[in-house]
Amino acid sequence: MLRRLVVVLGDQLDERSAAFDGFDPACDALWMAEVRAEATVVWSHQARIALFLAAMRHFAESRRALGWTVHYHRSGQAPGQTLDEALAVDLDRLKPAELCWVEPGEWRVAEALRGLAERRGQAYRVCEDRHFLCSRRDFEGWMQGRRQPRLEHFYRWMRGRTGWLVEPDGQPTGGAWNFDADNREAFPAGGPGLRPTPLAFAPEALTAEVLAEVATRYGDHPGSLAHFDWPVTRAQALAALADFIGHRLADFGRYQDAMWTGEPWPRTLLFHSRLSAALNLKLLDPREVCCAALEAYAEGRAPLAAVEGFVRQILGWREYVRGLYWHRMPAYLESNALDAQQPLPAFYWTGDTAMNCLRQTLGETLAHGYAHHIQRLMVTGLYALLLGVRPREVHEWYLAIYVDAVEWVELPNTLGMSQHADGGFMASKPYVASGKYIDRMSDYCGGCVYRPDRASGEGACPVSTLYWDFLDRHQTRFRGHPRLKMQVNNWLRKDEAERQAIRAAAADLRAEQARQAE
Ligand code: FAD
Ligand code: SF4
Repeated sequence: MLRRLVVVLGDQLDERSAAFDGFDPACDALWMAEVRAEATVVWSHQARIALFLAAMRHFAESRRALGWTVHYHRSGQAPGQTLDEALAVDLDRLKPAELCWVEPGEWRVAEALRGLAERRGQAYRVCEDRHFLCSRRDFEGWMQGRRQPRLEHFYRWMRGRTGWLVEPDGQPTGGAWNFDADNREAFPAGGPGLRPTPLAFAPEALTAEVLAEVATRYGDHPGSLAHFDWPVTRAQALAALADFIGHRLADFGRYQDAMWTGEPWPRTLLFHSRLSAALNLKLLDPREVCCAALEAYAEGRAPLAAVEGFVRQILGWREYVRGLYWHRMPAYLESNALDAQQPLPAFYWTGDTAMNCLRQTLGETLAHGYAHHIQRLMVTGLYALLLGVRPREVHEWYLAIYVDAVEWVELPNTLGMSQHADGGFMASKPYVASGKYIDRMSDYCGGCVYRPDRASGEGACPVSTLYWDFLDRHQTRFRGHPRLKMQVNNWLRKDEAERQAIRAAAADLRAEQARQAE
């Protein structure tokens, strides 16, 4: 008689999961499945599929090594195309007294599992996801009475709760809650120079087997498997964490917004941790990641500005977006406050464009399934926002194309932070900039056929054209906005002939890219 069947989803590979509390290998079992629908619900990058499958198989092996029973269906062997179809067949076969799972990271999956159990009259339990530092209930408590949540308020509250970088008198360590003034530099003219190569994890037998299967079964999906070197086990994830803390944390804040042409590692990746995928699969616990950075500060191995900046990403942003996701779903998915109706340009799937900033960022994305935050926000995200792409299409692209993409974290970043589709609920202003910003923060413009300082006429930079056009199209909404009104006024100060030329250039770009997307 099977007492408890624990469903372990691909992003729930947490050894300390609440679903394993009281787990008795004599009468309990795990259930895992590689179902096709989960790999194809968006047109996933091959490396994203491979990462999930390799990490799942390793996790199942690690549980079997403990003597646990794991009912595991490999690709093509699951009895059904969707998770609930496959699970339904096994519930008939295994007849567990109780079905149990941890809160999924996606509203759709949460509904599917709950719906299945309820339709069948199956006893079930949904465990809290202890991976996060702020539970969904605590986040809702924090949201009470707030019409306009802000990361900074949430982050300070979380600093107080954890006591991280907080002095006994309640004041922030170093006298400030953030040190952005010391951070976010561009590189000197010669670029970043040679940097330590991040630890790479060459695919061992099980991962190599997954890569071969993905190449066969999902070979028509975007992206490449040639550079696959992601950590797929907890031991590898811990090694990647130690490598980042030891070699790159110290300069993390200083250069976190800088971009540079070349392979993401060792050059463009620069000082980023590349830990998001391991965190989101739950191979790493956010507490151990933050504590490793805090320890480096305490021991004088990294400055406060870098450590605070890094901790803010995890204790602040990561927990904040998760709270907002569950607070706003399912309606969040449909947000389109700016009424953007343009299709996603076809080159997002190929990198085939003359715009060097996009070509570099998309090329790295397709090669690795990775781009750092500013590439996502201020290159691919910025262009889609300025062009006016339908937010749902932008969301589906981001969910498909990055190895760390799970909906709870991807969707608020895309719809809220990047596309302003929630009308400013998550982030107070749209992240808009002209090509001059990209020129300041990278070397991309130097290798481009366009000129970032031109918005119309010969050699006009499409980013700059669309930037002014965005301010034109949304001037009514933003002309009173404290952080955008100056930019709108700059637009209004241009003479009418220039404004007409920019409008015409933007209309041409939109028409051409819509035609190519068909
Ligand atoms: P680092 O720069 O080293 O940061 C350290 C860690 O902080 C990251 O590993 C991540 O866990 C966390 N973090 C940093 N910024 C954010 C943020 N804005 N939201 C949540 N966590 C953050 N992150 C994802 O994990 N999955 C996604 O699908 C995802 N989609 C994004 C889509 C868009 C449009 C944008 C603008 C950002 C998105 N991000 C996403 C956030 C961020 O870009 C990535 O977490 C980061 O680039 C991952 O690289 P890293 O591990 O080297 O991060
Ligand atoms: Fe991008 Fe414009 Fe710079 Fe070219 S000139 S790289 S299109 S910002």
